[in-house]
Amino acid sequence: MSDLPLFEKTASPSLFDSMQTFDHEMIVHCNDNKTGLRAIVAVHNTTLGPAMGGTRMWTYASEAEAVTDALRLSRGMTLKNALAGINVGGGKAVIMGDARTQKTEALLRRFGQFINNLNGKYYTAEDVGMTSEDMIHVHHETPFVTGMPVYAGGSGDPGSMTAYGVYLGIKASVKQLTGSDSLSGKKILIQGVGSVGADLAEHLAKENAKLFIYDIYPSVMQKVAAQTGATIVEEEDVYSMELDVFAPCALGAGLNPETIPQLNCAIVAGSANNQLLDEISDAIALSERGILYAPDFLVNAGGIINVSLELEGYNYERAKRLTEKIYDRTLENFAIASEKKITTHHAALKMAQSRIDALGHNLLYR
Ligand code: NAD
Repeated sequence: MSDLPLFEKTASPSLFDSMQTFDHEMIVHCNDNKTGLRAIVAVHNTTLGPAMGGTRMWTYASEAEAVTDALRLSRGMTLKNALAGINVGGGKAVIMGDARTQKTEALLRRFGQFINNLNGKYYTAEDVGMTSEDMIHVHHETPFVTGMPVYAGGSGDPGSMTAYGVYLGIKASVKQLTGSDSLSGKKILIQGVGSVGADLAEHLAKENAKLFIYDIYPSVMQKVAAQTGATIVEEEDVYSMELDVFAPCALGAGLNPETIPQLNCAIVAGSANNQLLDEISDAIALSERGILYAPDFLVNAGGIINVSLELEGYNYERAKRLTEKIYDRTLENFAIASEKKITTHHAALKMAQSRIDALGHNLLYR
């Protein structure tokens, strides 16, 4: 079995070199002067099916930063989708711009036309800066889009299924350390209580966890605190607070050489994509500190499981059952890491790669 190359902090200055290093199939730049659209679609691997992953709209400081994000996120989708047991490959799109001021119907429809030109090689959905409603505009131009609202014929915002999977990943992690998956009285801090974090807070509150939250938007925190009884913490306490579980549900790269030494928790398990700034050294640093890390792309797969089922005919119960497998898969991941004496992140990469290797030669459509 071949090992995937591990990702460094930044892609190489040469696009082809980066694509070759991480084995990307295709990268497409989309430009439209009239609407101001500047988008990049990255297709990493279609062994298991058409590439699938959301579209992120973000104020990237440079084109290089946007390309790196697209390469990194699309590779992450290959791993996540393979590990989740679904029949799609990995891809991701990024749109350069401010979602609050530059996202127009015309821009989204032009983006949809570019997606349509790919003829189903890549299916999109919402990610940071995009909403289910935005997908309706994209869908006016292409059928290769998922995650529209239920009223528009889609499976809806994937955030709640993601939260359900993360909740199960947290329970499995607690079980690994204590022998019981009860969360009653467990001190859990959620960093970022947006779409996923707010739903996760509801699950944890129902199990009587001792809940703490922090978000950069006070009004968002106050709403979640009122709904769940969570305690709001100060920003400077987020990484150093004594906790059973730290759940990063904001943006990526929060686990790095500056923050890992501050951590005072037994477990890290949350929804944020690409939590490790460097997936080799930061995973090792967590392990050396005795912190159990539930790999992000393993526990946050509920949303992609949900939208991917639209390709086969959406069924909520089936999406829920597939998401529930995250519990056992998390425990399996810990067992493999312990047996092979590797980090849990590395073990998750191996689990994903082994499914791609096992199925790759047998798929009829290739
Ligand atoms: P969101 O934008 O709805 O919520 C993110 C929240 O984090 C916001 O409330 C924001 O104010 C807050 N935030 C940003 N920076 C912060 C910081 N430094 N400290 C504290 N809070 C901060 O996004 P979401 O859909 O809830 O996704 C959260 C994370 O989970 C993202 O990394 C996303 O890529 C990942 N994820 C989401 C899904 C999904 O289905 N939505 C699926 C897989 C992974």
